[in-house]
Amino acid sequence: MPTNRTDDKCALPSCTCSVPAGQRYCSEECKRAHAHPDEQSEQCPCEHAECTSAGPSGGVTV
Ligand SMILES: [Zn+2]
Ligand SMILES: [Zn+2]
Repeated sequence: MPTNRTDDKCALPSCTCSVPAGQRYCSEECKRAHAHPDEQSEQCPCEHAECTSAGPSGGVTV
């Protein structure tokens, strides 16, 4: 049974998004957040529904 590693998890611990193979983060927001732990919050900074729907009412709008 061949193991196709097409999907991977975002490198940001608080992020539950899956990313394509070869990528570490699902978004620039996650990449930035991971680089700056001090500014990191419990909730993922990305705007993906998978993450935003996980918390209460994030209110992360641009
Ligand atoms: Zn996320
Ligand atoms: Zn992410």
